[in-house]
Amino acid sequence: MSRGHAVIDLGALRHNLRQVRRFAPQSRVMAAIKANAYGHGMVEVARALHDADAYAVASLTEAVTLRAAGVQHPLVLLGGVLSAEELQKALQHQLQLVVHDFRQLEFLEQNVFARDAAIWIKIDTGMHRLGISPAQLPELHRRLATLPGLRLQGWMTHFARADETDRPETTQQIRVFQECLDGVTGARSLANSAGIVVWPAAHADWVRPGIMLYGGSPVKGEPAQKFGLKPVMSLRSRLLSIRELAAGEAVGYGGDWTTPQRMRIGIVAIGYGDGYPRHAATGTPVLVSGQRAALVGRVSMDLITIDLRGCETAREGDEVLLWGAGLPADEVATHADTIAYDLFCGLTRRVNFEYRES
Ligand SMILES: *Cc1c(COP(=O)(O)O)cnc(C)c1O
Repeated sequence: MSRGHAVIDLGALRHNLRQVRRFAPQSRVMAAIKANAYGHGMVEVARALHDADAYAVASLTEAVTLRAAGVQHPLVLLGGVLSAEELQKALQHQLQLVVHDFRQLEFLEQNVFARDAAIWIKIDTGMHRLGISPAQLPELHRRLATLPGLRLQGWMTHFARADETDRPETTQQIRVFQECLDGVTGARSLANSAGIVVWPAAHADWVRPGIMLYGGSPVKGEPAQKFGLKPVMSLRSRLLSIRELAAGEAVGYGGDWTTPQRMRIGIVAIGYGDGYPRHAATGTPVLVSGQRAALVGRVSMDLITIDLRGCETAREGDEVLLWGAGLPADEVATHADTIAYDLFCGLTRRVNFEYRES
């Protein structure tokens, strides 16, 4: 095993897809595999999730990578195209384009070869990031009527606060979406992972799970296990050294943490250069051969230091789990003031990946 080692459990990934279907049995599934499948390896994940009905990616480059690897599934370009040149390429690769503003519609109007492009139209129902606003819909319909060859795959919107179960905004977004599409034909897609587990009214024709496929919790403050999800990524390293220090010794950069007593400190071969979060605070849990220990002091580029007081049997060379099976990434993320999405996406090329079937 190299110093930073990520084991990707493809069986867990497929299990999580089945959980998606259990939550939303009437819906088709567009699996979000953007950003290198949230850091898990996009091509491997696409192959493992061949039961998904489509894949969603963020950029043309991601889509082209999948096509080059032989992935034939429907691919949805969530951000749509950025230029007429990108449109040309997207058509060559038979991508489904999200159209979220009139500039993208112009690219379609101006390219005679794009007249039968497959498109999704995104409506801004309250997140105020991407999407055609409800007030612009009459103009949209007028212009779509002049492009009768376009293959409209459906209508989509995205939630801003679906992970907060006690807020009214998601219900409001669902209502705005329904009102916008009253009497309009075409498939509907609203729900990300949080929408899938919390808001059944948002399931509609297509769901778009991301984080729950990777075993991260879709709901703030609730463990992923509660939703029957299994962690897919386990990030591991090893104890590179164990030091016996006297009381009152400062450990690491800045001397931020001082030993309260004579004790053993473990030095683990992982750091922010591997994607371990630099802002992980003292107290962030790790597992040493299955036993809990806590990070102490500052995270360095190549190393972290841990308190071995609860791990009397720990020896140099022992395996250390940074997150994964037995230690939820969500829990680690909370200690680093971030979210599991960010931990997964943040692994660097220094980490070695291994794919396993469970
Ligand atoms: C990334 C993304 C998703 C998936 O979101 P999760 O919270 O990871 O489930 C769904 N829809 C859109 C438009 C996205 O960009």
